[in-house]
Formats: sequence, C-alpha cells, structure tokens
Amino acid sequence: MSQNNIHIPGLEHPVSRVALGTWAIGGWMWGGPDDDNAVRTIHRALDEGVTLIDTAPVYGFGHSEEVVGRALAEKPHKAYIATKLGLNWEDEKVFRDSRPERIRKEVEDSLRRLKVERIDIEQIHWPDPKTPIDESARELEKLHKAGKIGAIGVSNYSPEQMEIFREVAPLATIQSPYNIFEQDAGQNILPYAESHKMVMLAYGPLCRGLLTGKMTKDSKFPKSDLRSSDPKFQPEHFSHYLDAVAEISKLAEKHNKSPMVFAIRWVLDQGPTIALWGARKPEQISGIRDVFDWKLTEADKKEVDAILKRHVPHPIDPSFMAPPER
Ligand code: NAP
Repeated sequence: MSQNNIHIPGLEHPVSRVALGTWAIGGWMWGGPDDDNAVRTIHRALDEGVTLIDTAPVYGFGHSEEVVGRALAEKPHKAYIATKLGLNWEDEKVFRDSRPERIRKEVEDSLRRLKVERIDIEQIHWPDPKTPIDESARELEKLHKAGKIGAIGVSNYSPEQMEIFREVAPLATIQSPYNIFEQDAGQNILPYAESHKMVMLAYGPLCRGLLTGKMTKDSKFPKSDLRSSDPKFQPEHFSHYLDAVAEISKLAEKHNKSPMVFAIRWVLDQGPTIALWGARKPEQISGIRDVFDWKLTEADKKEVDAILKRHVPHPIDPSFMAPPER
C-alpha cells in the first residue's frame, strides 16, 4: 500500500485510494438523477486519476450502473468497476435477498447494464439473515471460477459473518461506513481487514456531505433526499456536528487543505482503506489531487478526537440506512 494506490487481491493493477461512489448518480434517495452531469463527473474522476468506480443495482434501480456503463464506454480508461448484489425490490421497496438464484440474475443484469464481460469486484450489499452465508459464498465462488467476477467483496458484514464466508470463498474487500463522525468500523472491521490482507472500502467518507464544510444550520433537504431522514441532519444534532466541522476546518487550514480533503485523508491514514468519494457534479471531484502526497500527523488525529469529545461525545451511527429483511 502506498499513500496513493493499493493492491486489491484478484485485480491485476493497484487501484487509486480514492474511488468514485455513484449512489447519488442513480438519483434514488438523492433527489433524482442528472445524467449529463453524472457522465461528466465520471469522466472528470478518470481524468483526476481515479481507477475504481463503485456502483450498485439498487442505486436508481439499475440507473447508476447504466450511467457508469455509458460513461466508461465513451472514454478510454483503466478503471475497475465494483458493483453489488443481494438487494431486491418491488415497487421501489427494497429488501435483502442473497439467495443463489438472485445472485445469478443480478450478475447477468449488472454485466448487461455495465456493458462488460467481467465484474471486477462483486460485493454482497447487505447480509441476508434468511439465506445461509455459505450458500451465497458458494454461488459467488462459482461465478468467480467461471470468470464473470474478478474479486469478491462484502458490505455491511461483521467480522463473524466474514469468517463464515471465508470458509467457502476468499474475500478481497469489505465495504463499511467510515468517516470522522462514524468510526465504528475502525474498532473491528478495519483490524479484521488488515489481518486478512483485505481492503476496506470506506463509504460515506464525507458523511453525506456534512464534512465538506459547505453546510450551515439553514441547509435544507427535499423529502426525496435521504438526509431529510438522517438523524445527524435534524436540528437537535445538526448544530453540534456543524460546530465540529468548523473546528475541523481550522485544523485542515494548518495544512492548507479544505475540511473535505482533510476528512478523506483521515480515512486513508487509518489503515488499508479506499475512500468512496460520492460525487454527482464534475466540480465536486476536482479536489482529489489535494488528498495525495501528505499525511495527517499524530497530533492532528488526537485533535480530531478532542474535537469530537467536545461537540459530539455521543455520535449517531448510520443504521438508519439499513434495508429491511425479506
Ligand atoms: P459521501 O461521499 O460522504 O458524500 C457525498 C455527497 O457529498 C455528495 O453527493 C455531495 O452532496 C457532497 N459532496 C461531495 N463532494 C463535494 C464537493 N467537492 N463539494 C461539495 N459537496 C460535495 O456519501 P455517499 O455518497 O453516501 O457515500 C459515497 C459512496 O459510498 C456512495 O456513492 C456509494 O458508492 C457508497 N455507499 C455504499 C453504501 C453501502 O451500503 N455499501 C452505503 C452508502 C454509500 P450534494 O451533491 O448533495 O451536495
């Protein structure tokens, strides 16, 4: 692992430690899609040296994958694609489903939407308590051996669940929520990933935009934007988080960096991680180069802990996003 690139088992080349996250590009839960901007965002990310793009069938019910497929087909590139499976939906009501037949269908659907012959990283999006983990693992391993999947990952799994999975098939990645305000994965997931030579894909590294520094107590979100139901963005908590961001901004200034770049660097300096930077407008991804070739000091990390203690001593976890069981 270097400061800027990292090797993911199963992939030929190291990948950039900042990946593009394309949930918002799908539109669903982010106030609707804007495809032209989305394609330009993906192209900008490639120009900025991003070589991993994370998507999922559920992001816009196929739309995010289709836009990623279109954007990558339009421009020569060296990027890998990570997508997911294991969520199903009826009338836009999402539920967990990692049964083998669902896995087989989703892989075929993703290959078609993404216009590729192999999915570089295929991840189970959420654990499905109604399907034995080893059954899903066996199905993915078959698809891996058949050459349809380059590497297997999971998302929102605990170390215990990964342990069961790994008895059947190797795991290259684990995707977890991880940012300055949501640090739980640092306790158990990241050490697990490190000790098994896996890479942790950190989702929500900007805490859904909170760590960009652009929000104020008057920021409002439409009902169709998930932040309208995110507890951190409700008045009783929001101002505490904003006070913390104001102090993080001052700390970032000491390095001549924005709070956003500082927050991404914080994720990268914790271990074998990749930050999934969520963006949907090309200008949003333009700060990426600022993330590379420097590091947080130990004093910076301690100061972040002190800021949290002062303003958000009882942080709220992101469990509001968890989809229901089948
Ligand atoms: P995020 O990266 O923490 O925040 C993304 C949001 O921050 C953007 O939509 C944008 O919001 C704002 N932003 C980004 N760059 C900005 C800039 N330069 N200036 C101003 N605002 C900026 O959150 P996320 O999208 O939830 O997470 C990232 C990725 O992780 C997702 O796209 C997805 O690939 C993955 N993810 C996975 C799971 C899972 O269960 N596995 C769950 C969540 C996310 P506005 O455009 O609204 O301003």
